[in-house]
Amino acid sequence: MPTPQHETVVVDGLALAQDLRKQMAEEIGRLQNAGRRAPCLAVVLVGDDPASASYIKGKRRACTRIGMDSREHDLPGTASEAEILDVVTSLNADDGVDGILVQLPLPKGVDANRVAAAVDPAKDVDGLSPTNAGLLFQDEPGLYACTPLGIMEILDRYEVPLEGAHAVVIGRSQIVGKPVSMLLLRRNATVTLCHSRTRDLAAVCRSADVLVAAAGVPRMVAPDWVRPGAAVIDVGVSEVDGELVGDVDFEGVRGIASLVTPHRRGVGPMTITMLLRNTLDAYRRRTGA
Ligand code: NAD
Repeated sequence: MPTPQHETVVVDGLALAQDLRKQMAEEIGRLQNAGRRAPCLAVVLVGDDPASASYIKGKRRACTRIGMDSREHDLPGTASEAEILDVVTSLNADDGVDGILVQLPLPKGVDANRVAAAVDPAKDVDGLSPTNAGLLFQDEPGLYACTPLGIMEILDRYEVPLEGAHAVVIGRSQIVGKPVSMLLLRRNATVTLCHSRTRDLAAVCRSADVLVAAAGVPRMVAPDWVRPGAAVIDVGVSEVDGELVGDVDFEGVRGIASLVTPHRRGVGPMTITMLLRNTLDAYRRRTGA
């Protein structure tokens, strides 16, 4: 077990999120004072997964708090892919909607990639359409996935050096691992993207200057996986014995890492904040505001 030797900064993702949301609320207030409508986010919920319902509730509340409109379209868990695509098509055509988010996971038998591809890229605030994924790949401006944007915002606000750093990402999903790897690469980090088949993951992690854990495996990142002085970003959220836990052994890593995000008040609030920012950006581009 490594000897604790670092003063570890614990990221306050909530404070950072509140700061950014305040700026957005002020901007929306200015737009409305100038006679413009508020930006609007439409969320589509298919089925009655309690976790999804709770995420959507949080997103809608966050919209309301900054003066953004939100609409919810609920479909039963039995909805077919064609029915979901119909809702997406009507939201694409609705001029009063700036952002569209289809809450994942979708029921079995529904192709999430096909649904993502149906969302108008100009309204794709989750950044999951092939167009936006391609723009990210090409280093062109676009709407990118929210959690990766939130992670980059945290790293920047806490002045974590990225140029030439070794960034190790655990997890290769479309929503976190792949896009955050692209964003880190864009900032000239040397990126290693790990997954469930990676050999000797602990050794790879030990060579990281920046470690992003997004596997959804409770407390997998043990203290001896972390190089003293590394910055550790915990994205994972799992339920263990009724309690939400992250992918990082937070208490164990404290004193070894230079910076760590807690699993509450860490990445989560920043993900929602980036959803709001993407919606505001989409609104600005669509309306010329
Ligand atoms: P996912 O299930 O789509 O992908 C998980 C990835 O982790 C896969 O690429 C898999 O190869 C890898 N993986 C799984 N087990 C592994 C292991 N033992 N070793 C190495 N790699 C392993 O998940 P996701 O949607 O990317 O989400 C990842 C985690 O982040 C989940 O816990 C999710 O709840 C959480 N999450 C949190 C936020 C947030 O805002 N805090 C946002 C999105 C996802």
